[in-house]
Amino acid sequence: MNQFTAGKHHDLLIDGQRVPAASGRYFETRDPSTEEVIALVAEADAADVDAAVRSARAAFEGTWGQMRPADRGLALLRLAEFVRRDQEELVELESLDSGKPVSAVRRQDLPAVIDTLIYYAGWADKISGQVIPARTDALTYTVREPMGVVGAIIPWNFPLMIGMWKIAPALACGCTVVLKPAELTPLTALKIGELAVEAGFPAGTLNVVPGFGKTAGQAIVDHPDIDKVTFTGSPGVGRQILRGAAGNLKRVTLELGGKSANIIFPGSDVEKAVKAAGAGIFFNTGQVCSAGSRILAHRSIYDEVVERLVGRAQGMRLGDPRDDKTSMGPLISQTQMERVLGYIEVGRQEGAEVAIGGARHGDKGYYVSPTVFTGVEHEMRISQEEIFGPVATVIPFEDEDDAVRLANGTVYSLAAGVWTADIAQSHRMTRKLKAGTVWVNTYGPTDVRLPWGGMRDSGFGREHGDIAIENFTEPKVVWINTGR
Ligand code: NAP
Ligand code: MG
Repeated sequence: MNQFTAGKHHDLLIDGQRVPAASGRYFETRDPSTEEVIALVAEADAADVDAAVRSARAAFEGTWGQMRPADRGLALLRLAEFVRRDQEELVELESLDSGKPVSAVRRQDLPAVIDTLIYYAGWADKISGQVIPARTDALTYTVREPMGVVGAIIPWNFPLMIGMWKIAPALACGCTVVLKPAELTPLTALKIGELAVEAGFPAGTLNVVPGFGKTAGQAIVDHPDIDKVTFTGSPGVGRQILRGAAGNLKRVTLELGGKSANIIFPGSDVEKAVKAAGAGIFFNTGQVCSAGSRILAHRSIYDEVVERLVGRAQGMRLGDPRDDKTSMGPLISQTQMERVLGYIEVGRQEGAEVAIGGARHGDKGYYVSPTVFTGVEHEMRISQEEIFGPVATVIPFEDEDDAVRLANGTVYSLAAGVWTADIAQSHRMTRKLKAGTVWVNTYGPTDVRLPWGGMRDSGFGREHGDIAIENFTEPKVVWINTGR
């Protein structure tokens, strides 16, 4: 077993110290591939969140807030170095807690975490305002000041990576952070918190308070001394956060769900398209907000797409996440497995056909076979609602307008993919698709330099890039009367 877990109790990280919860309570975290308890984690509630916020406020007003911006950047670079040093431990820990295959965490999550840290380290001393010559009797300019204390609430599907998408820009801006990981995956957040202490971040700069959404999460949302909440999760909780944030008019960024379309036109490289479409829905066992869960295939290539996609599903290797050859791990929890199997049942009842998969895999661990539905109508629930599992629907379309109508026809607007060999068509499609990201002749890559997020039930605001710097700062106007 991993050294960091080794069956021990894990305390909260508040004010640079590992401390038990005020209540003294601990909760269990499990390995989804074995269903076994791997560690006990201190359960934060409102009292602990309050202690973390007080510490974060003090660091914001003092040590961290007063630090030279370039030194904040150096601290982020040191953290990147420690993440690199301990990457195998982090890979193993993330895999144990979430069921992700180590091969995927090593290839994708860890490099993204390091890249994010280095990218925002570079921003720390380059956050500037603007001289705006509004008047002839005054010197008028803006500065960008850090918002203050940030509450970051993250889901279980990419704990390390999504956590860093929030922590790194917030810290680069000079904010301090109270991070609440999902209760299903608290371990790597605590490890990152420890590395931050080791990297010399002053006490209170980054606090980590694992606990449940309804208690610890809600306490962050309700806390009057938190200035901003950055959230990734479901639309339902997103709405709740907006309501809660009305109290002290917190700034809010919401990254929510998706039901993204992956559109394959005739004349495109169908083999390549379906390979990417398979990865687009089966990667991370389909627990990806931008999963290409709706594959739209032109009627003339529909049969070929289905056949090839079934082949991709057959080629997935389900198994022990610690085995390098495993390409698909379990779902995160019993609840998630039941939810996904429930949707598969709904699909059957709605009259869709299971071309492959459609059942639990094995009897230990929360594995569900990669599943492809055919005979799907656009209005069916399996084509409209986010399943968050390895379940693809394949729907034929007649022409470009039909493809756009189907693609835009859900409550979500996070991402879309288009496969075409026609350059004019690619431009028409990118214009017509309602989505935060449109991929052409690829599906799924993200880069921290590019804005990420969506509209409608996919949330509002964007993360990444320079937009994240705006997310964690407030512009201030300075008006110096000079006279004429
Ligand atoms: P979730 O239930 O919304 O949970 C997300 C986080 O919010 C967890 O830390 C959760 O805590 C916490 N939470 C729950 N209730 C809360 C409350 N009342 N107040 C404050 N915090 C609360 O989502 P999930 O099931 O973990 O994740 C799946 C969803 O996330 C999917 O809909 C997916 O599409 C979305 N997602 C979106 C993106 C994106 O970038 N757009 C990325 C990943 C995932 P506990 O779980 O510990 O109770
Ligand atoms: Mg776990």
